[in-house]
Amino acid sequence: MYSAFFFDMDGVLFNSMPNHAKAWDAVMRRHGLNFSAYDTYINEGRTGKSIINECYFRVHGTDAPDEIWQQIYKEKSEMFEQLGAAGPIDGISDLLYWLRDKYQPTPQIWIVTGSGQHTLFARLSKFFPGVFTRERMITAADVTHGKPDPEPYLKAWERSGCTKDECCVIENAPLGVRSAVGAGLHCMAVNTGILSREDLNKEHPDLVFDNMQQLLDYLKNGG
Ligand code: MG
Repeated sequence: MYSAFFFDMDGVLFNSMPNHAKAWDAVMRRHGLNFSAYDTYINEGRTGKSIINECYFRVHGTDAPDEIWQQIYKEKSEMFEQLGAAGPIDGISDLLYWLRDKYQPTPQIWIVTGSGQHTLFARLSKFFPGVFTRERMITAADVTHGKPDPEPYLKAWERSGCTKDECCVIENAPLGVRSAVGAGLHCMAVNTGILSREDLNKEHPDLVFDNMQQLLDYLKNGG
């Protein structure tokens, strides 16, 4: 039994990864670079600067000058914005409300994300009213090192007051799993995107699920 669940955001709460992939693909092409949808999913969690530098290096043999990576990142962010807000991941609401209302004893529900959006809490309240609280959020503003560093999940664990064994991370990205495993926490990976199970298994989560319904069934059966 867990006393706290730590939810990642992109690809776990919201289906935002397809739009990230579209935006990266279009903008990288515009700059003569190449970044496939698979690249977007496997690199989820890395900073824009490091993603752009790697792509740039493949073509030019050197890191991107500051003005270039900043320009690419600006265009990518603008296009992502234009694509509009993504809706919730299939099955996530059922899982969240089941944890809130049926799981005993009632667990803490946290969000642990590298996002720094000011509108984040408003968005969470709109899509999942009554689930998240401002106190149970770890965002970009709370950490020095983002995922895949363990810091974000270590911070959530410390603030929860629970033992590590009582905490369960829900992640969709290999680098997010690495962060959770590095923090010494249980981690359930849900493959909501286009990666293979093996891409996730390589980072050693406790279990890998194909969708939220499978994870919900597992928890209902006392997992
Ligand atoms: Mg994610």
